[in-house]
Amino acid sequence: METTSRCSSNDHLVVIGNGMASHRLIEALVKQPTRPQRITVIGAEPSPAYNRILLSPLLAGEMQQEALTLRDTQWYAEQGVTLILGEKVEMLDRARQTLTTDSGRSLDYDHLVIATGSRPALPDVPGIELEGVHGFRNLQDAESLEAIAQRGGDAVVIGGGLLGLEAAEGLRKRGSDINVSVLQRSERLMNRQLDTTAAHLLKDTLTQRGLQIITGAHLARLESNAQGRVAKLHLADGRQLNASSVIVAAGITPNAELGRQADLRTDRAIVVDEWLTTSDPAISALGECCQFDGTTYGLVEPIWRQVEVLAATLCGTHTQGYADAPSATKLKISGVALYAFGPTEASAEHEVLNYHDIERGDYRRLLLRDGQIEGAVLYGDTSQGPWYFEQALAGTDLNAYRQALLFGGADVEVLREASQHSPDSSELSSKHSSHTTSEAA
Ligand SMILES: Cc1cc2nc3c(=O)[nH]c(=O)nc-3n(C[C@H](O)[C@H](O)[C@H](O)COP(=O)(O)OP(=O)(O)OC[C@H]3O[C@@H](n4cnc5c(N)ncnc54)[C@H](O)[C@@H]3O)c2cc1C
Repeated sequence: METTSRCSSNDHLVVIGNGMASHRLIEALVKQPTRPQRITVIGAEPSPAYNRILLSPLLAGEMQQEALTLRDTQWYAEQGVTLILGEKVEMLDRARQTLTTDSGRSLDYDHLVIATGSRPALPDVPGIELEGVHGFRNLQDAESLEAIAQRGGDAVVIGGGLLGLEAAEGLRKRGSDINVSVLQRSERLMNRQLDTTAAHLLKDTLTQRGLQIITGAHLARLESNAQGRVAKLHLADGRQLNASSVIVAAGITPNAELGRQADLRTDRAIVVDEWLTTSDPAISALGECCQFDGTTYGLVEPIWRQVEVLAATLCGTHTQGYADAPSATKLKISGVALYAFGPTEASAEHEVLNYHDIERGDYRRLLLRDGQIEGAVLYGDTSQGPWYFEQALAGTDLNAYRQALLFGGADVEVLREASQHSPDSSELSSKHSSHTTSEAA
């Protein structure tokens, strides 16, 4: 499908936010000969965009801060991109096509991209604003968490999802005298990605490492000490936990305030169409601050595809519109291999294939519908994860190779080849069947 250019090369393109989406967009634009010549990027953080994903290994002490750097300020200058850092855009005037920052700076734009990301969602409970309660979103947060780990004491992480577990394990690894607990509302860790068995395996591993994992935990309130610092957490069932620090990792809230203030169409985030255009044709939105077709975002994979569409749209080159596609999840905790995508619960139409080698802690579970993989959870040996994901995206009918499926791509290829040379491949298939337990959902 062909698109129209939203920017001419003489236009002034202004990008609000200098995070991962903004940075990737600039990288894509500067490669295009038809790019807008005047580009200004305004970021609230004091440093140029960095690899936010790597904040977890940074906290765990597995990486130096320099390794997170994407491009330095000089690179932006060399690309003819004006980079303004440490300033937050506070107001948009759509009629005049201007914006104002918190330092009083005013800028005109011809086209605007809002890429303001999101922030940690705070549970609506008394005491959440107390001193000693932190998020885990940026370099400053990583520094604060590192200081907590060094200081020691009782740290409680609220949220047993990807981010909460990475934060908890980072704190534990970094501190010598720290007790780290994780509160998870659901009965299982990473309940959006893992089934019960994989969640138990993960819980066992993390517990053995020294984390205290409390599932089915409903936070009721935070209590302060005489100095107004958080000191205790109260759960709805009456349990209490000492807490010298609290880290909130229980979801994200899109930074959509600029869209609301400027009366753009918003819902949970700034609503965009398949070209990432908001309800104002002169304004696009991108990344975690945008919402497409009812979906908001929390992983980079879909954002990279949004960037491709928006860069092409802005430069007037051919592209398909953005469409959502499944994403796979990996946990960045060293020594824990976990790969998952698709639904965790089997419906009546699903067939479940699973394999569990208890001694090796190796678990694989596939959800199939009409012979096609719709979901997978791999714990232990995750090497076949990307192959399963590829098959799921391609919608490959794997029904004929079900018995080899749990062993991954290479075994399926053997069967495929065998079936091409001989119509009876049952001998090869039966080799695997003793390891495979298949249950109808
Ligand atoms: C610790 C951690 C680990 C993660 N691990 C993974 C992972 O393993 N895999 C994965 O896919 N994703 C991961 N993510 C999520 C990933 O980092 C985000 O999806 C990605 O950063 C989103 O990009 P973004 O540009 O939309 O938002 P951000 O990267 O947050 O960038 C938004 C920027 O806009 C700035 N800003 C906000 N408001 C304004 C304003 N008014 N004016 C100017 N600037 C403003 C913000 O300060 C920020 O710098 C992780 C996130 C964290 C925090």
